[in-house]
Amino acid sequence: MTYDLAIIGGGPAGVSAGVYAARKRLKTILITDSFGGQSVDSVGIENWIGTPKISGSDLGKALENHLRAVASDVVDIKTGEKVEKLSKNNKQFTIETNKNKYEVRTVLVATGSTRRKLDIPGAKEFESKGITYCASCDGPLFAGQDVVVIGGGNAGFESAAQLLAYAKSVTLLNRSDVIKADPSTVEKVLSHPNMKLIKNAVPVEIRGDQFVSAIVYEMSPPTGGKEKVELPMAGIFVEIGLIPTTSFAENLVKLNEHKQIPVNPTNQMSEVEGLWAAGDCTDGLYHHNNIASGDAVKALEDIYLYLHAKK
Ligand SMILES: Cc1cc2nc3c(=O)[nH]c(=O)nc-3n(C[C@H](O)[C@H](O)[C@H](O)COP(=O)(O)OP(=O)(O)OC[C@H]3O[C@@H](n4cnc5c(N)ncnc54)[C@H](O)[C@@H]3O)c2cc1C
Repeated sequence: MTYDLAIIGGGPAGVSAGVYAARKRLKTILITDSFGGQSVDSVGIENWIGTPKISGSDLGKALENHLRAVASDVVDIKTGEKVEKLSKNNKQFTIETNKNKYEVRTVLVATGSTRRKLDIPGAKEFESKGITYCASCDGPLFAGQDVVVIGGGNAGFESAAQLLAYAKSVTLLNRSDVIKADPSTVEKVLSHPNMKLIKNAVPVEIRGDQFVSAIVYEMSPPTGGKEKVELPMAGIFVEIGLIPTTSFAENLVKLNEHKQIPVNPTNQMSEVEGLWAAGDCTDGLYHHNNIASGDAVKALEDIYLYLHAKK
C-alpha cells in the first residue's frame, strides 16, 4: 500500500505532526526509533507550554500516549525502526528502514539532532572512561568528585545544575566570553558555591591513565599569546552542540553546511516537491520543543492542502 504521508521521528515535532495527521485523516505511517526525542535526558523541562515542569522521560511518555490515543486506524506507528535511506522515484518516495521498505506520497522529516562529539587528543580514548555525554545518566557516578562541563549553552548549564547535586565541584569551560544559555539559568547555576565558570577556555587535550585524570585547556590572557592550563578532575561532561540527524536524506535533498535541511519558513517545505521538515533537523534559526511542535503543525497544514490539490 502507498501511504499519503510518512512522518520520520517521535520527538515533539514528529508527534505533533502525527496528532494533526490523525485529525486530518491522512493515511500516515510514523516511523521512529523511540519517543520523546533529545530532551528525554533532561530532569526538568520548565518551558513546555501548559506544563510548568516535567521530566524529559515523562514528556516522552506523554507525547507517545497522546499520539496513541488519537492514532486509531489512521496513523500506523512503527517504533523501534530506524530510517536508513530516503529516495524519490517519479511521484513517490521510498523509505528504507533497518526492518522494512515503505512507499509514500509525501514525507515529513522530524529526526532532530544528536550530540556533537569532542574531537581532541584523548577524547575517543577516554569516552565512557570519564568522558560522558549525559549528566542525568552518569552524574551519580561522580558523587563527591571534581568534574568539568564543556559548553556554555543551555545544555551545558543544565548539565552543571544536575551535577551540582552530586559533585564536589563543577567547573564549566566556555570557549569564548559569550554565554549562550538563558540568563535565568546561568544566574541560578552560578549562584551555587561549588560552581565555577571559566570563559575563553578552549579544551585541547584529555589526559589520564585507565580513566580521565585531567583536562588541558588553552587560555588567551589579556597580555597576549596563549597559555595552557592543566586542570585535574575525575569526569568530563560534553555539551558542545548538536548534529542534525539527516544523513539518510543527503542523496535526496541538498543539506546546508551544518547538515540541516533548508526549508521555507512559511510552510516548512524543502526544495524537493513532497518533502517537508520540521524541528531541530531544519535550518530554522531557533530550536526548542515548542518551536519543533509548532513547525510540524505548520507543515501538516501545508501537506494536507498539497495532498488534496493532487487528488
Ligand atoms: C539535554 C537537553 C535539554 C533540553 N531542554 C530543553 C528545554 O528545557 N526546553 C526546550 O524547549 N528545549 C530543550 N531542549 C531542546 C529540545 O529537546 C529540542 O529542540 C527538541 O527535542 C527538538 O525536537 P525534534 O522533534 O525536532 O527532534 P528530537 O527531539 O531530536 O526528536 C527526533 C526523533 O527522531 C527519531 N529519529 C532520529 N533519527 C531517526 C531515524 N533515522 N529513524 C527513525 N527515527 C529517528 C528520534 O528517536 C527522536 O524520536 C533540550 C535539549 C537537550 C539535548
